[in-house]
Amino acid sequence: AWSAAAGEREVLLAAPRSFCAGVERAIETVERALEQFGAPVYVRRQIVHNRHVVAGLERRGAIFVEEADEVPDRSVLVLAAHGVAPAVRAQAAERHLRVVDATCPLVAKVHQEVRRYAADDNTVVLIGHADHEEVVGTIGEAPDHVLVVSDPAEAETVDVPDPSRVAYAMQTTLAVEEAAETAAVLRQRFPALKGPRTDDICYATSNRQAGVRAIARRSDLVIVLGSQNSSNSRRLVEVAEAAGAPAVLVDDAGELPLDRLAGAGTIGITAGASAPPTLVDDLVRCLSGLGPLTVTETGEPTEDVRFVLPKEVTHP
Ligand code: SF4
Repeated sequence: AWSAAAGEREVLLAAPRSFCAGVERAIETVERALEQFGAPVYVRRQIVHNRHVVAGLERRGAIFVEEADEVPDRSVLVLAAHGVAPAVRAQAAERHLRVVDATCPLVAKVHQEVRRYAADDNTVVLIGHADHEEVVGTIGEAPDHVLVVSDPAEAETVDVPDPSRVAYAMQTTLAVEEAAETAAVLRQRFPALKGPRTDDICYATSNRQAGVRAIARRSDLVIVLGSQNSSNSRRLVEVAEAAGAPAVLVDDAGELPLDRLAGAGTIGITAGASAPPTLVDDLVRCLSGLGPLTVTETGEPTEDVRFVLPKEVTHP
């Protein structure tokens, strides 16, 4: 806590923050599937990487599983926003599951690029984190053609069979600047490198990183709302830190690090693309309970990207 003499605490809300179009679509897909087909509806993996979202859908009748083979024959299976390898679809077909695909269209676009490059017999260097679900799914499109590098150092040493047939693609939720450096290393090493016309890092990732960078410069502490397994939320912490502010990732106001609030006169707040906006409201309410507060939103709040829902839940 701090004394009243220290004056009002200031909260800077980064814009944009919280849900992106792909996450909204994925959540709405599960909700519609529950309405249309009735509970239970099975979901492979966390629909989006957020504890609160998963718990909320579980309460409404969604059952989260690791793999399609855990699901009773002929039931409804929703595939999560991060995308899956073709082998997963095959497994679902074998079990006669009614598949509803909530893969974000921007992830699907990366899958398509990888398929195209691999069909042309290129080695695809995929910039990303090898153990992340999205990357696992993307590799699955062409396992024999894809090599994963996570940073510029790995790009320096990656070994390809034919340097004249190399392409690259990216995970959608990387740190924009580091990913650009990694791509630059590849371009320098392989002058014939092919790549996507526009970067694979999605609009939501880059907008949220720009937003947090802007508030971090003025904040004593940045609080990022999001779950620990959320890639884009973790990148927001890194971007804030790189801009000079200490930053923490918390799932909700209940995890507020009270010790770190002491002495922090200006607190920046943002939320990952998978974190519900209500968590931000709750956090601000919680902070206002600790003392007087002024709240200012900075940045570019409007994002008008919307994706249509999967046809399985719009034309049953
Ligand atoms: Fe799609 Fe980007 Fe959202 Fe991921 S973060 S679901 S790629 S819009």
